[in-house]
Amino acid sequence: MTASRVLVLNSGSSSVKYQLLDMSDGSRLASGLVERIGEETSRIAHAPAGGAAEREQTGPVADHGAALKAVAAELAADGLGLDSPELAAVGHRVVHGGTRFTAPTVIDDEVLKEVRSLVPLAPLHNPANITGIEVARALRPDVPQVAVFDTAFHATMPEYAARYAIDAQVADELSIRRYGFHGTSHAYVSRATAALLGRAPEEVNVIVLHLGNGASASAVRGGVCVDTSMGLTPLEGLVMGTRSGDLDPAVVFHLARVGGLSVDEIDTLLNKRSGLLGLCGDNDMREVLRRAGEGDPAADTAFRAYVHRLKKYIGAYVAVLGRVDAVAFTAGVGENAAPVREAAVSGLEELGLVVDAGLNSVRSREPRLISPDHARVAVAVVPTDEELEIAAQTYELVTR
Ligand code: ADP
Repeated sequence: MTASRVLVLNSGSSSVKYQLLDMSDGSRLASGLVERIGEETSRIAHAPAGGAAEREQTGPVADHGAALKAVAAELAADGLGLDSPELAAVGHRVVHGGTRFTAPTVIDDEVLKEVRSLVPLAPLHNPANITGIEVARALRPDVPQVAVFDTAFHATMPEYAARYAIDAQVADELSIRRYGFHGTSHAYVSRATAALLGRAPEEVNVIVLHLGNGASASAVRGGVCVDTSMGLTPLEGLVMGTRSGDLDPAVVFHLARVGGLSVDEIDTLLNKRSGLLGLCGDNDMREVLRRAGEGDPAADTAFRAYVHRLKKYIGAYVAVLGRVDAVAFTAGVGENAAPVREAAVSGLEELGLVVDAGLNSVRSREPRLISPDHARVAVAVVPTDEELEIAAQTYELVTR
């Protein structure tokens, strides 16, 4: 019997999300989350497979090492101990792979060193990812650990789409270019959209709109990413929950020169206090929709700004791709917020984009079309599954 379990770890600065999957059939054996690591009020929520009740514990979890031990204990209680010979590999989400990593990679000391060298490009994310890798390696040094990079799917962007129009020498010295993020999701959803259309990924051009708390769009031609909305960091592009997305870079100079803000203060303002939150005080689209529905003017402007930016990217990517077969909505907002989908596509009939109101209002966890039969471009809702994609890429690499 070959080992077929893959543990997927998504380590953040104060949280670890995990899933254990059986790659013989892609089934989910367990999943969960440890949050507020390093605080007195840490919380572990563990969901066993098969619909059994979620188990929750609170109490201090000192660090990521303790968090992973707690995860191992939860899994052991389900008879799924990480010491099992069934464990084939651990797949780690790593946010930034720079230009060095364009495919999933088995982690050794050299790889870890290179991932560490990318910390200046992703100071908020890569250090936590590295910690997750280190603790998992210590727990099961005999099992391959695989890094799956959020940037990898976008490495196929042509040079002219990846470059900022700044001094090329300065850009190269400082590794300044557009990398793109959410790549695992864009890869998974573009393929799942092709499958929904009953076609091979190579045959279809898809615009993927990943609208979660962070949000990004991508233009995928025949399974290959040719453009995406996030750039050097996840700050560029769409209006997000707390990030501004695109703005005139001179806003930064103005905030410093006139507003007297430091670089770190500007970083926090644009990453954590902007987007929907900055515009109306709420970053959760459910709240924004509720308030806008009650006629709250700030929430209404926030909703319209969000949709306006989205629409501009849809139009841009129709132009980039030339021919579009499908537009796919995914992630928390994309999968659940029918009003966002409707508004983003409304008025784009000339581009072949139409949403059927009845289909759009259906709630389901399944990939589905929300455009009418006769539509030139399919509009779809395709739930993302980044953990399954990370597990699949990990398993494929270690069983190759
Ligand atoms: P993350 O980027 O944190 O992985 P998700 O993809 O889970 O985020 O998306 C989270 C967001 O999805 C929430 O902030 C919320 O605004 C939005 N969301 C979830 N459910 C709904 C819903 N029913 N209607 C509108 N928005 C929703």
